[in-house]
Amino acid sequence: MSSIIQLLPDHVANQIAAGEVVQRPASVVKELLENAVDAKATDIKLIIKDAGKSLVQVIDNGVGMTVTDARLCFERHATSKIRQAEDLFSLATKGFRGEALASIAAIAHMEMKTKQEQDELGTHIIIEGSKFVSQEVAVLPKGTSFAVKNLFFNIPARRNFLKSDTVEFRHVMDEFQRVALAHPNIHFSFYHNGSELYNLPSSGYRQRIVGIMSGKTNEKLVPVNEDTEIINVQGFVCKPEFAKKNRGEQFFFVNDRFIKSGYLHHAVMAAYEGLLKDGCQPSYFLYLQVPPNTIDINIHPTKTEIKFDDEQALYAILRASIKHSLGQFNVAPVLDFDRDANLDTPYHYKDVEAEIPTIQVDGTFNPFTDDKTNQHYTKSGSGSGSYSSGSSSSGSSYSGYSKRVEPTASWESLYVGLDTENPESVESFPFAFENEEVTSSLFNDDEVEQASQKTYQIHKKYIVSPIKSGMIIVDQQRAHQRILYEQFLLNMTVNQASSQQLLFPLDLFYSSSEMKLIEELKPSLETTGFVFEEAKSDHIVISGIPVNITESEVSIVIEQLLSDLQDGIPANSYSQNDTIAKSMAKSLAVKTGSYLTEKEQDNLVNGLFACKDPNISPFQKPTFITMRVEDIDKKFAL
Ligand code: ADP
Ligand code: MG
Repeated sequence: MSSIIQLLPDHVANQIAAGEVVQRPASVVKELLENAVDAKATDIKLIIKDAGKSLVQVIDNGVGMTVTDARLCFERHATSKIRQAEDLFSLATKGFRGEALASIAAIAHMEMKTKQEQDELGTHIIIEGSKFVSQEVAVLPKGTSFAVKNLFFNIPARRNFLKSDTVEFRHVMDEFQRVALAHPNIHFSFYHNGSELYNLPSSGYRQRIVGIMSGKTNEKLVPVNEDTEIINVQGFVCKPEFAKKNRGEQFFFVNDRFIKSGYLHHAVMAAYEGLLKDGCQPSYFLYLQVPPNTIDINIHPTKTEIKFDDEQALYAILRASIKHSLGQFNVAPVLDFDRDANLDTPYHYKDVEAEIPTIQVDGTFNPFTDDKTNQHYTKSGSGSGSYSSGSSSSGSSYSGYSKRVEPTASWESLYVGLDTENPESVESFPFAFENEEVTSSLFNDDEVEQASQKTYQIHKKYIVSPIKSGMIIVDQQRAHQRILYEQFLLNMTVNQASSQQLLFPLDLFYSSSEMKLIEELKPSLETTGFVFEEAKSDHIVISGIPVNITESEVSIVIEQLLSDLQDGIPANSYSQNDTIAKSMAKSLAVKTGSYLTEKEQDNLVNGLFACKDPNISPFQKPTFITMRVEDIDKKFAL
């Protein structure tokens, strides 16, 4: 029998290798940028079209290649960066596998122009799907330009697998930011579909971070500096009060290479212990230098993970140095030269007269009628307790009250037989009353009291309410999410949402990738009641907000939205509205751990059962459970 094993032809092997190296346009961006950095360029231009799907081009002014190297660089395992296995332990370059160019050339149309400084003429090569199409001598500037067109042209399955332009662009942006942050001394520029997104002159770390993030970043940063035998830590962490809900701006660089490390992230979080609000994440930009022989960067094909020899020591040093920096900033704010102007009284407030507090009175509120037929909503600005009902009219009722909720029939029926002991309803009073203490004696007939308080909050988490057949236990957070979700969705699709005009428009700053998302979301956000006075370059000015949120909640809502949409904005407007409604419900709902007054508990339960779909939260979790008397009896029978 003849042998059946064969060596794969090179172009097939390259295509297979490409699968590991090139997943999407962003992978090409990463490899080409890193090659340009390795070539000692001081000026690097990134040009992409259609999120990199049609073109990724990187132009550098680095050392360039000789004619022979220009041809050789497309061979697999062709690298100028290591000669022998030992070199792997003293790597100071990004690349070393000699795989990237061979892999990219196997799955795209590629054009390369390169010239070394001392040469008169350079080399111009075209290669498509691993096949050399042409090689010419050309007049060129010093350096190298790679243009990669029509990625995956010969692997339609991979091409179809690419995500929307928004998602792919985001990945490209991430790679660009990582390389540009790691090398502030290099001038980077970035163009997408003909427009310039970044032009970052050679600078120091701080300016580079500010250049990439946004204008307001500077005042948020606290420097970190620590030099020990095994590690040098430099960089910046953000002041605790600027921590965000999403994890977007967190960067570790080890020997100028972006890496991900859950372990080191944990060390940073440990340094912030006790300083952050629940669920908030600080931004950080940390540059670690360690001796190359104490790390192994070879364990991950795309090299964003890394293994350190002495992880525990690094953890301790990192945590201590950040703690120290944060401590200095907190203890001695007078010495902080980057004083936060946000904390000053804005000029316009000084000239504004203090507002006289007004009390709004609900003429229809009657303390003697059953709560479920006479709702009394208060709109308090104080975070946890503030929510509105599920009533569709709440959008236009910011005066302090919203119309009562019409509970659904099924909800009413739960209570049948329970409210017979209620005090008689009294015709509407023209004024609102303070609720009088009902119980004046220990020996009061507690039947009455029992019937009038239908809800109890336990563990600041659940609302328990008796019903005819037993009781229900409502999860307060999920129930409120459901109420808000339906309300937002209704406002966005059916009702004309009303907004509250802000006395002083809010000026909020975002990074350019976040701004791109916000611009796309703008029309949908407007249907919820947001009014944008301006939305350009790195900031938005908001002059109106939906009636059911407070001014201080605006940035939380937008942060949450940006983090929920990291993976792209849904294509059609229905799912876009749905995502926005869900995200806003998530950020605005009362949380587990919030104390609710009786009234609030009541409103919550009523609001929930006025919903179209009260059984599940917008995230498909149960909102309440029922316990029948028989179930309880059974437990006692044991
Ligand atoms: P690696 O970077 O792992 O060595 P690559 O396939 O990315 O492998 O590149 C192969 C070789 O081509 C590099 O080692 C380098 O010598 C050369 N090269 C690639 N890009 C450039 C560039 N922009 N300027 C100069 N030389 C380059
Ligand atoms: Mg490389």
